[in-house]
Amino acid sequence: MALWITDECINCDVCEPLCPNEAISMGAEIYEIDAARCTECVGHFDEPQCASLCPVSCIPVNPSHVETQAQLLEKYRRLHPAGATSHGGGADAAASREAASSAPVSSAQAAG
Ligand code: SF4
Ligand code: SF4
Repeated sequence: MALWITDECINCDVCEPLCPNEAISMGAEIYEIDAARCTECVGHFDEPQCASLCPVSCIPVNPSHVETQAQLLEKYRRLHPAGATSHGGGADAAASREAASSAPVSSAQAAG
């Protein structure tokens, strides 16, 4: 799921620079999250950075944008096609977790 910002936002400016997907921007009155860009930080961090650090806890998940972990990872890959990230090896870590959960047999045993 993407996250969204409720009208409890106090425009403290904390979340916007934290977003690795540039999904957060100032709206008409308060900050807003572009659901098409929010991956819940999948691919970058273990937990949503904005929701973790918002001082008034006004960034819940958006029930209108239900997405699986795989869909969030796919969105991450669309946003970052080169797999490059300025936040370290998040992409590889996420891809490894994805591969590990979907590959039933280890290919390492094929050597010989
Ligand atoms: S959860 Fe992550 S990707 Fe989504 S808006 Fe917050 S910081 Fe950006
Ligand atoms: S961190 Fe929370 S209160 Fe501050 S601008 Fe972002 S959503 Fe609003």
